[in-house]
Amino acid sequence: MKNFNSHRVFKRNEKEPNPKGEYVLYWMQINRRFHYNFALEYAIGWANKLDKPLLILEAFSCDYPWATDRSHMFMMQGMKEHLEYAQDQDLNYVSFVEEKPDQYEKLLKDLSAKASVLVTDEYPVFIMRKRNETYPKEIDLPYYTVDSNGLIPLGLTDKDPYSAYFFRKIMQKNFVEAYTNPPQKNPLGEIQNKRKIDLPDSIFSNIPDAGEALNNISEFISELDIDHSVKPIDWHGGRSAALGMMRQFIKDGLKVYDEKRNHPDEKKTSQLSPWLHFGKISEYEIVKAVLEHQPDGWDLNSITFNKGSTGGFFNGDPNIDGFLDEVITWREVGFHFAHHRPDYDKFESLPDWVQKSMDKHRDDPREFIYSYEELEQSKTHDDIWNAAQTQLREDGIIHNYLRMLWGKKVIQWTPDPETALEYLIKLNNTYAIDGRDPNSYSGIFWCFGRFDRAWQERPIFGKLRYMTSESTRKKVKLKQYLNQYGNQKSLL
Ligand SMILES: Cc1cc2nc3c(=O)[nH]c(=O)nc-3n(C[C@H](O)[C@H](O)[C@H](O)COP(=O)(O)OP(=O)(O)OC[C@H]3O[C@@H](n4cnc5c(N)ncnc54)[C@H](O)[C@@H]3O)c2cc1C
Repeated sequence: MKNFNSHRVFKRNEKEPNPKGEYVLYWMQINRRFHYNFALEYAIGWANKLDKPLLILEAFSCDYPWATDRSHMFMMQGMKEHLEYAQDQDLNYVSFVEEKPDQYEKLLKDLSAKASVLVTDEYPVFIMRKRNETYPKEIDLPYYTVDSNGLIPLGLTDKDPYSAYFFRKIMQKNFVEAYTNPPQKNPLGEIQNKRKIDLPDSIFSNIPDAGEALNNISEFISELDIDHSVKPIDWHGGRSAALGMMRQFIKDGLKVYDEKRNHPDEKKTSQLSPWLHFGKISEYEIVKAVLEHQPDGWDLNSITFNKGSTGGFFNGDPNIDGFLDEVITWREVGFHFAHHRPDYDKFESLPDWVQKSMDKHRDDPREFIYSYEELEQSKTHDDIWNAAQTQLREDGIIHNYLRMLWGKKVIQWTPDPETALEYLIKLNNTYAIDGRDPNSYSGIFWCFGRFDRAWQERPIFGKLRYMTSESTRKKVKLKQYLNQYGNQKSLL
C-alpha cells in the first residue's frame, strides 16, 4: 500500500514471513466486510507478492465484556451472510463462533502456525486493541494491523485531537487526498493464487461447527454463558440490511437532515451506526453515495479549505455538509483520540479543566440519586429520560439528540462523576447495538467535556455543558416518541 494509505498500515512486530507458510491469513476482527476493506486489500497484496492463497478467518468469542443475545445475534446474522457469500465465491474462508472460552484463541494460533503472514484490523478500543497489543509477541509471524475504519488514516495524526474543530482542520486539509485514494470495491477480484486450502480436520476437532451454529442461531446462543436478558433487535446484522438502510436514508432523510435530525418524532437520521460499528458498511461508500447527491455542477473542485469551520467546506447542499460533519469529523475524532490514548476509557483522560471543575463540585448536594438498577429499568422521575432508556433497553439504540441528554442527566443523578461514568459505559455497552465502539467513548466522554469547552459554572456540573429535559421538550418534537417509549411501557 503506497503513499497516502501507507498511514493505515501498522507493523506490530519485527518477525520474518514463515517460508513454509501455506497461505496469508487475514483475520477479520471488526471490519466485517468483503468490500471496501483496506485490511483485506493489504492481505491480498501480501498473498500475491508471496504467490500464496489467502485464508480469511472471521470469528468471535463468547466471553467478551458485555456479551448479550443482542450483540451475538447481530454478529451471527452478518456471519451467516458471509458464509453463504464465501461458499458462492469459492473463497478460503473459515467462520467460527466460540462456545467455550479459549477455543477462539487456539483456532487463531493453529491457523497462524500454517501461515506466512498475518494481517488483521486496526481498531483503537475494546478487545481488538488488547489483542493487537499482545498477539504480535505471541504469534511467530509478521503481524500487521490495517486501518479501514474511516477516511482519514489513523497514522496521519501525531497526537490525540482535543476538539472536533482541531480534527476538522486535519480532515479538511486531507479530505480530497483521502477520498481519491479509496479502498477497492471488490478486492477479492485481485486474488491471483486461487488454490483451495486443505486444512487438517484436527484443527476443527472439539469446536462447534460454524455452519450448524449459523443455521440455528437462536438455539446456539441460548446455550452460551452470556447475558440472555438483553434480547435481539429487529434490525438484521448483514451487509444487505446496511446497504438498504443507507439507500432509505438517502431517499428520505438526507435532503432534510439539517432541519429534522434533532427531532425524535421525525426519524430522519441515517441509523447506520450499528452496521458502521461492525464494519458491515464502509464510511467511504457512505460518503461517496451521499456526495453523488450534491446539486448539478458540484465536483471536488467546489471544496474550499475552511480552517476547521463547519459550513462552507463542501459548498453544496447544506444537509450534506451537516451529515458529513457527523459521519466524518464526529465519527473519526473518537477513533483518532482513542488511537493515541490507551486511557481513552478512564476518567483521568478528561481535560484538566474538567477534572478540576468536577472535583470542586464533587460534594454538591444531589436532589435525586438513582441506583444502576433504577436507571436500567427507566425508573426515574423524568419521563423523557425514561423513554430514552426504554428505547435503549428494548430497541438497542437511542435517538441521536436524546443520547446527549441521556448521558448528561446521569451525571446529575449519581453520587460522583466516576460512578456516572461507570454506569453510562455499562448501560451503553450492554444495551446499545452500536456499543463498544470508539464512538461509545467519545459520546459518553463528550457528556463529561471531552472535545468541548468550559461553560457557565453551575452546581454538580461545574463548567460542563448543561442540558435539561425541560428545554429539550420545548426544542424538539417528541410526542409520538413519548407515546411509543413512555413510562407506562417501562413499568409493566
Ligand atoms: C452518551 C452518548 C453515547 C453514545 N454512544 C455511541 C455508541 O455506542 N456508538 C456510536 O456509534 N455512537 C454513539 N454515540 C454517538 C451518536 O449518538 C451516534 O453515533 C448516533 O446517534 C447514531 O445515529 P445515526 O446513525 O442515526 O446518526 P446520523 O446522524 O445519521 O450520523 C451518521 C453517523 O455519524 C456518526 N455520528 C453521528 N453523530 C455522532 C456523534 N455525536 N459522535 C460520534 N459519531 C457520530 C455515527 O457513525 C453515525 O452513524 C453516543 C453519543 C452519546 C452522547
